[in-house]
Amino acid sequence: MNDRIARLRNLLEEPLLVTNPVNVLYLTGLDSSNVALLVEPDRARLFTDFRYIESARAIEGVEAVQTMRSLIGWLAEELNGRFGFEASVLPWTFAEQLREGGLDLVPRTGLVEQLRAVKDEGELEAFRRACAITDRMFERLVSEVKFVGRRERDVAWDTTRLYHEEGADEPAFESIVGSGPTGALPHARAGDRVIESGELVVVDTGCRVGGYVSDYTRTLATGELDAELSEAYDVVLAAQQAGLEAIRAGVTGKDADATARAVIDGSPFAGAFGHGLGHGLGLDVHEAPRLSTESSDTFAAGNVVTVEPGVYLPGRFGIRIEDDVVVTDDGIENPVRFTKELVAVS
Ligand code: ZN
Ligand code: ZN
Repeated sequence: MNDRIARLRNLLEEPLLVTNPVNVLYLTGLDSSNVALLVEPDRARLFTDFRYIESARAIEGVEAVQTMRSLIGWLAEELNGRFGFEASVLPWTFAEQLREGGLDLVPRTGLVEQLRAVKDEGELEAFRRACAITDRMFERLVSEVKFVGRRERDVAWDTTRLYHEEGADEPAFESIVGSGPTGALPHARAGDRVIESGELVVVDTGCRVGGYVSDYTRTLATGELDAELSEAYDVVLAAQQAGLEAIRAGVTGKDADATARAVIDGSPFAGAFGHGLGHGLGLDVHEAPRLSTESSDTFAAGNVVTVEPGVYLPGRFGIRIEDDVVVTDDGIENPVRFTKELVAVS
């Protein structure tokens, strides 16, 4: 942990006030909703209230400071000088409050996030365990759970139960179960629609283990598919394979996206892939680096990213296939074991 603060110091031009609770968790191990970490050249002060102060005092390498009233109000009165702050995280009203208290604030973005993007072996271990549990969840979902005649939300609830039974700490996010036309909405919630036979069901789901998340998508079939659906499935699978093969350290997120997108744009489903190819995974479900048409990120060994192309035909169907992989110097490690062959469920 102290090593992480030391590496952050190397990136700083002025002391940094870290207010994103996930960034504080990454740097100190303290999981608190009301916390700030001030990283200075010769010390790091961890500000939190009575509820968390004992945990904060037990952390090596930081000075725990108990705040007596609102955290920001307290910092505005107690601190003086020039500080970087997390401009994409700190609310405007809080920044104003700090300025009025006399702090000279320098907006900074992405500093801790750039450290978080490269995982160490302990982080990768937690991620691989989350993947192993997600694999087992999917195996049980397709063999034990009834789809046809039940609501999407009932199937989504089964994913939560299965994660619990397989030893996950919690679901990483509310599972998406999008059947038939609902599947054409990439971020549809699992709703009241009753799943019918002969359609596709997009299941996008993940779990958290030791702080770290998985995020898979599989598209399942409730019976025989017509020729167009089968072709669309094969196109998405080929696009995903192309994306996976394009990734290694030094490649950009933009180029990986373009490689996968070219497969879809060269098919009858050109233009039907309306989102980015993927995103980083870690303590958050969406973090650096990004894989998209606008990404300025370049992969480094130790990044964990999703690869999730899709084809969406509004009002009709959606197909997405998503794996989570570790970037290496010469390619990827893909810990996802659950099949990408089209699986039939009943
Ligand atoms: Zn997903
Ligand atoms: Zn994702």
